[in-house]
Amino acid sequence: MSLPTEIITMRLTRGVLLFLLSLIGPASGAVAQQQPPPTRAIVRVTGELYRAQNNNHYTVFLVTSEGIIMSDPINRDFSRWLKAELASRFKVPVRYVLYTHRDWDHASGGIVFADTAQFVGHQNMLAPLAPPAGNLALTSDAMKMDANRNGLVERGEAADAVAERFALWDHNRDNVVSGAELARGSLSDVHPPTTTFTDRHTVTLGGKRVTMTHLGVAHTDDSSVLHFPDERAVFSADILQVRRLPGSLAPTVGSWIDALEIVNALDFEHALTGHALAGTKKDAADLLRYMQDISTGVAAGIGAGRSVAEVQKTLTLDAYKGFERWDTNREAHIAAVYAMLKGAPR
Ligand SMILES: [Zn+2]
Repeated sequence: MSLPTEIITMRLTRGVLLFLLSLIGPASGAVAQQQPPPTRAIVRVTGELYRAQNNNHYTVFLVTSEGIIMSDPINRDFSRWLKAELASRFKVPVRYVLYTHRDWDHASGGIVFADTAQFVGHQNMLAPLAPPAGNLALTSDAMKMDANRNGLVERGEAADAVAERFALWDHNRDNVVSGAELARGSLSDVHPPTTTFTDRHTVTLGGKRVTMTHLGVAHTDDSSVLHFPDERAVFSADILQVRRLPGSLAPTVGSWIDALEIVNALDFEHALTGHALAGTKKDAADLLRYMQDISTGVAAGIGAGRSVAEVQKTLTLDAYKGFERWDTNREAHIAAVYAMLKGAPR
């Protein structure tokens, strides 16, 4: 039996928000007050598979008779909200949190589910959760914050992203952020995976299956795609995008082609993403084709002796004109692929 698509949305009222901020305290409250209340929603994709939204971040969860398998926790506030929603709607606990990758804006907040869940991530996720060894100098951007020139960023000196989430950068909680802590990233609220894998890992619960497959080194070196074979769905954050170009093609366009070939080799209909739109298998194929088109297009331009500016002018990739960020990211992608191909040994 299939039920109609259910949508639940909740917006914090201003009164509730101000009350919550008063509990957090004036310093962080002053920053958070400038943010509008989060847009949150739960939408059924198919069967017992749902997509949950926190502003422009998304996760998915699969409900079984023995508990829930979910993906990225996104952050602590969202996870608390989601946990309450799941408890009231499904009456079964979260048994698994499956990470797509370690980035703070997807992987934070899992501690909320640690009372009932196991955490699974690629093994490359573990080591980067601690700062690199040794004393790293501040980057030039961080040096601008370091008013007293002691090589550290004190809480009072912090600006922008470091100020916004100071506690997430401050790994050893000594109220200063070092060069090594900055190099690690704002990962302090990422609950480490309790189970790791190298190539592929399957979780089974209540007669349902989810398979995680490592995607290589595109975006980060610990990214996995989640495959829900019975639901014919995949979920990937930051690599799979629907009618939207990635931020960067780091480390190489070849790594993106490899990753998207792995995704496209899976059997699915629903292409679920960590940001923006969800789509279909055709959308996953379109993004792979973008990577192939930009790669062959830039190589042809180099072969014809064109400058990067000339390639940016002629390689318009019009087939992707309707994609989000085509106007802002296409030229940077061409420049990155051009530099990579030029630098490659021949
Ligand atoms: Zn992301």
